[in-house]
Amino acid sequence: MAAHVPTMLAMIIASSLMMAASMAVVGWGRRRDGLGRWAAALLVNAIGHLLIMLRGLIPDLLSIVVGNLMLSSVFVGMIAAVYQFQGRPVRWALLLAPPLLVLVFVSVFIDNFPARVSFVGLVIGLQAVWALLAALSHRHATVGRGQWLLVAGLSLEAVVLGGRALVAISTHSEATNILQSSALQTLTFLATFSVVLVSSVGFVFMSRDRADENNRVLAALDPLTGVANRRSLIAALDRDVARAQRMREPMALMMVDIDHFKDVNDQYGHPAGDRVLCSVVNVLRQRVRAQDLVGRYGGEEFMVLLPDTGLTGAEQLARELCKAVEESRCPADGVPGPGIAVTVSIGVFGGRLESGDSWDMLIAAADRALYQAKNNGRNRVEVATGLRRPSAQLAAQANPETLPESLY
Ligand code: GH3
Ligand code: MG
Ligand code: MG
Repeated sequence: MAAHVPTMLAMIIASSLMMAASMAVVGWGRRRDGLGRWAAALLVNAIGHLLIMLRGLIPDLLSIVVGNLMLSSVFVGMIAAVYQFQGRPVRWALLLAPPLLVLVFVSVFIDNFPARVSFVGLVIGLQAVWALLAALSHRHATVGRGQWLLVAGLSLEAVVLGGRALVAISTHSEATNILQSSALQTLTFLATFSVVLVSSVGFVFMSRDRADENNRVLAALDPLTGVANRRSLIAALDRDVARAQRMREPMALMMVDIDHFKDVNDQYGHPAGDRVLCSVVNVLRQRVRAQDLVGRYGGEEFMVLLPDTGLTGAEQLARELCKAVEESRCPADGVPGPGIAVTVSIGVFGGRLESGDSWDMLIAAADRALYQAKNNGRNRVEVATGLRRPSAQLAAQANPETLPESLY
């Protein structure tokens, strides 16, 4: 099937202009997403294709030489946009080399259509591969599926333009005019569409995917200390409880509360108190295992989740943490000596779970132990002896005197 070339060119021009305008609007004021550069590339794409479409109506120098120069420059803008998105510096001299090559070659071979088509096709195909490699090489800067659209559009362009160049080199094409319809021409312009539409949409989605990911991380972390916040702690605890029940593994949980923290704020000021919170978090994080999770449950209270850990191990770790916090110092402005000293009290729950046990029962148990640690003089560890299960609660309500001690 050979589509009418001027019509396809007109559609490429219109879609490039519309997409450029849309991306400029979306990317306005968001430089680091690279949408402005991509929009500029699409504008150049529209102008380049307009010059090609006007073949015969305007001087060949404009239509052939400047037109092809523009088509090659499109990828300068797109690669620069991908680099900007990834926060990488652009080496403009390197990026501008292909369009310069196209300029020289097309000027020299202005009367040789097959040579021009194969050379320009090859250069632009390689530029598409360059953009593809740029997108794939810094994958860590990208999240989500938008990048796959970018890659898909660029891949099609690279394959079709490379194939077109090879066909033009190997067979003696009878085509002598870019506006002449042929199956290969149709495929070429469809590939251009794939970059204008699929890759552009993919690139917009990449910004959205990244913004979503940033929001997800921000929503999961405590802004002051950078550890998990209460919401993500509870989500993780819920998952750990389900896993411990399924695998019949023990699990442990600690509630850690800074002693007399109000006095720290009163004595040194709120900003110094904030630094103490961060310093306690660092002490805790440095001493737990990779699979454990430290989070801020609220105020000056932290939670440590210890999957696959029994009570003995958790209690031992809690004592180590207690001692480590006591020995640590938080340097603060205007505080003489090594810095502010604080202590913590820790309530520990650890053991096997039964089906029906839920995360809130574990928190309640660790909290009761913490309360005991505070009552027993602070800077110490107390252990919860069990979970208060619904049946036990009912029994306690019915007759508190008969409740076995081990249920607490
Ligand atoms: P206890 O030993 O019984 O735990 O005494 P406490 O003073 O640590 O406990 P209390 O609950 O009376 O006070 C907690 C204090 O923690 C009060 C509050 O101002 C302070 N606080 C909570 N969140 C923050 C914070 O983000 N930054 C600072 N600087 N202080 C905070
Ligand atoms: Mg406290
Ligand atoms: Mg507290």
